[in-house]
Amino acid sequence: MTDIQAFLDQLYQRYQDLNVGQVASYIPELAKANPDYFGISVVTTDGRSFHAGDVDQQFTIQSISKVFVYGMALEDWGRDRLLEKVGVEPTGDPFNSLIRLDETSHRPENPMINAGAIATTSLIKGENLTARLNRLLAMFRRYVGQDVYVDMSTFLSERATGHRNRAIAHLMLNFGMIGDDLEESLDLYFQQCALLVTGRDLATMAAALANQGQHPLTCEQVLQPQYVRDILSVMYTCGMYNFAGEWAFRVGLPAKSGVSGGLMAVVPNQAGIAVYSPLLDSNGNSVRGLKVFEALSQEYGFHVFDLAMGHCRFQQSLSPQPSTSEP
Ligand code: GLU
Repeated sequence: MTDIQAFLDQLYQRYQDLNVGQVASYIPELAKANPDYFGISVVTTDGRSFHAGDVDQQFTIQSISKVFVYGMALEDWGRDRLLEKVGVEPTGDPFNSLIRLDETSHRPENPMINAGAIATTSLIKGENLTARLNRLLAMFRRYVGQDVYVDMSTFLSERATGHRNRAIAHLMLNFGMIGDDLEESLDLYFQQCALLVTGRDLATMAAALANQGQHPLTCEQVLQPQYVRDILSVMYTCGMYNFAGEWAFRVGLPAKSGVSGGLMAVVPNQAGIAVYSPLLDSNGNSVRGLKVFEALSQEYGFHVFDLAMGHCRFQQSLSPQPSTSEP
């Protein structure tokens, strides 16, 4: 059993030169990302952290925001009312598809695809756009443990080019799935996607989900515990674009990736883990991220069914914490 810090260092060395994949470019600002960036972060539910590489490099959170905004919508509306507007069914379609929405469902299948995420964001309560954005920022601040900011260039770049998302929103307006304040909701969606985070932040946020909604460092309850399971379920079935099934099979963790190269996974009751590396495969997942998670899952028995059967080997890989009690 390799010590976790030593294993992260090994993984960083092993995959640092894996220059496979493409940086996303359909949002022009994302094309500027440095393809060499690579960081791995692990934060345990009891607040210990282990890092390798560029873990303090900022990038925009993109689709990973969908997880946390879904949590807020669950708190705002409750499970049953939210399900009327956004389902929980994986699609196997591209994340920005609108065909099924138009021809069969009329209700977005799940909150991890763009249609479902835009509908979810449109439900965030607040009397105007500023109030709604401030609620989202306050929520993200609680997860991260410090102030968070929107990257204006990426927000404007996506707003100027997000015609497909605009089309999805109009289709949902047509079917009565979102209100007619859709330009405002789209702005809010583009802003949440342009939020700046680091790999360290994402691992901390995932650790809060792993810890039943309680932040591992501030100890604040950042999400009502009854919704943690809902979020983890949609992450498990829908979080990895068209690789979700294969990911569940091989790695076996609730996870979410985004087009800027972030990949965040939750090891229930153990840790949050994040990788940042902007080179993406054809599904839109970070190439180095997939490699790192496959190796971690194998090494420590992180697959949820390994965990459920008591085969997880993670705790043994952590050096014992120094005792703080008096002798
Ligand atoms: N803002 C991006 C979009 O809606 C998010 C995509 C992603 O990360 O999957 O196109």
